[in-house]
Amino acid sequence: MAEKFDSIVVGAGPAGIASAYTMAKAGLNVLVLERGERPGAKNMFGGVIFRHQTEQFAPDFWKTAPIERHVVEYQYWFLSRDSHTLLSHRNQRFNSRYNAFTVHRAKFDPWFAKLAEDAGAVIINRTTADDVLKENGKVRGVRTERGDVLADVVIAADGVNAMLSKQAGLRGELRPEAAVLAVKEVIALPRQKIEERFNLGPDEGIAAMVIGWGPGMHAGFMYTNRDTLSIGIGINMRDLDKSGERPNALLEEFKSHPSMAPLIQDGELKEYAAHLIPEGGYDYVGRIYTDGMLVVGDAAMLVNAINWEGTNLAMTSGKIAGETVIKAKKAGDFSSRTLFKYRQRLEESYVMKDLRKYREIPGFFSSNPHFFTLYPEILNELVYIWHEVGNETKDEKIKRLKSTLFKRRSRLGLLRDLYHLWRLFS
Ligand SMILES: Cc1cc2nc3c(=O)[nH]c(=O)nc-3n(C[C@H](O)[C@H](O)[C@H](O)COP(=O)(O)OP(=O)(O)OC[C@H]3O[C@@H](n4cnc5c(N)ncnc54)[C@H](O)[C@@H]3O)c2cc1C
Repeated sequence: MAEKFDSIVVGAGPAGIASAYTMAKAGLNVLVLERGERPGAKNMFGGVIFRHQTEQFAPDFWKTAPIERHVVEYQYWFLSRDSHTLLSHRNQRFNSRYNAFTVHRAKFDPWFAKLAEDAGAVIINRTTADDVLKENGKVRGVRTERGDVLADVVIAADGVNAMLSKQAGLRGELRPEAAVLAVKEVIALPRQKIEERFNLGPDEGIAAMVIGWGPGMHAGFMYTNRDTLSIGIGINMRDLDKSGERPNALLEEFKSHPSMAPLIQDGELKEYAAHLIPEGGYDYVGRIYTDGMLVVGDAAMLVNAINWEGTNLAMTSGKIAGETVIKAKKAGDFSSRTLFKYRQRLEESYVMKDLRKYREIPGFFSSNPHFFTLYPEILNELVYIWHEVGNETKDEKIKRLKSTLFKRRSRLGLLRDLYHLWRLFS
């Protein structure tokens, strides 16, 4: 491994592969190091990948890629202890123009990595980049257990723990308030049963987000795969630390909720996994370039927690990083003077524009957990009262609805919450 490469990419996730593909396609000499025994072996997510970003690497990819189902319905569940209110959007347009696909990362990542290999990148699995190599303050390569490897530019695509960025002095430890711990199970069910249970046609799928269960600010998720369901929860690490709750106990509680349990009934547990999601938002992105190094994807904290998007930001940042290295190669300059253009282009793209727009949101919901606890309860109570039939007149009912609402949240509190939501999202 004494060879010098144009670029070493550390990590064969969506961000790393997007950058490796982009550079290899332009004729650069690219090495990808992946610590897993193959791409995807160590990766888990919810989840869905998005058509728009993925097709930039492989048009019509859904015809050959190992996808599970295309999403035709988005569901938002609001739970209380014994009820749920469901907001759901199904659209036939998602059948004629696909938008997102459920996948298993263990299958999708190797397929995506093969695109980069076919474009000319060399991928070495079972190899961890243990440290960055520096010369006169500039990153010149990485140290692995198999030896040192040199490159003009190292692309750190090593995911949420961002070890390389820390070693390069670009950022400190991941802060608990900026990280969500997700625990997830994959539950097997016959294909037909999934389609009956969720009212789906062949290959159609749903993506569901669930809030309002358990004692704190937790979110649940569920995705339909071909013959499995992915079900899980996410909890902010600072909240987890404060509350002392156990993630697996919370997942059990979530699965046994009367609205969730029938959906997974008779399923067979296939897989259990936990992973961190970097959800700090724009203010936690920090420095993502230095002389001889760029940081992409989760390692750069590029996750849009509001819209549950990560792989698309990873692919876009990887692509922009790859294009920046191609330009740097043409200019023969791999210093920050050239590489800063990566950050500049990212700022001009939807990636940073979206994160900037939402920059106050992670902190706001963290200090206002009642949006995740109180409001789903109130909503369920109001919907219940509305449907309950007795001798009450509708005037009396409306009075009862108002008094139930204002008992739980004052008029001023409601106005304040509405104002904040309007300000945060407009
Ligand atoms: C439960 C959950 C649900 C999610 N749901 C969605 C969803 O539905 N849609 C969506 O778009 N996003 C979702 N995300 C987020 C998404 O998974 C990430 O944003 C995305 O995977 C980031 O890609 P990446 O390439 O930056 O990092 P990763 O996918 O984490 O890849 C990093 C790679 O680097 C390797 N690596 C790490 N360190 C080293 C090292 N030192 N040397 C060599 N290799 C190394 C790892 O093995 C891994 O292969 C979800 C995440 C979780 C945890």
